[in-house]
Amino acid sequence: MQMTDDELRQYDCVIVDEVQFCRKQDIEFFLHIVDDLEIPVICYGLRTDFRMELFEGSMWLLAWADVIEELKTVCWCGQGAVCNTRFSEDGTVIREGEQVMMGGNDKYTALCRKHYREGKLGPEKA
Ligand SMILES: [Zn+2]
Repeated sequence: MQMTDDELRQYDCVIVDEVQFCRKQDIEFFLHIVDDLEIPVICYGLRTDFRMELFEGSMWLLAWADVIEELKTVCWCGQGAVCNTRFSEDGTVIREGEQVMMGGNDKYTALCRKHYREGKLGPEKA
């Protein structure tokens, strides 16, 4: 389902959340909105998945966006957290599997790259 140009022209700004789930053609459509309709598009999303690989939508957005601003959360150690870490019920870091798995704080946490690579979800679980 895609909005027509006339429908889009009613808006001053387009905001897209969870942009990592967009496809390349969606990002191309955002370029059309910005360049041809001259409506700003602001996207929020994750850069990489739990394997530290780019999401398709994020990859094309990183390639083409006019402005990129990184909103960092913090790892338990105080470092900036760049890794969206998927973990299992027994507290181990999962690095393989389907890219998309629905879940919240029970399945994902934010770690710095060092602790993602070491698989340390917290100081007491070292
Ligand atoms: Zn850390």
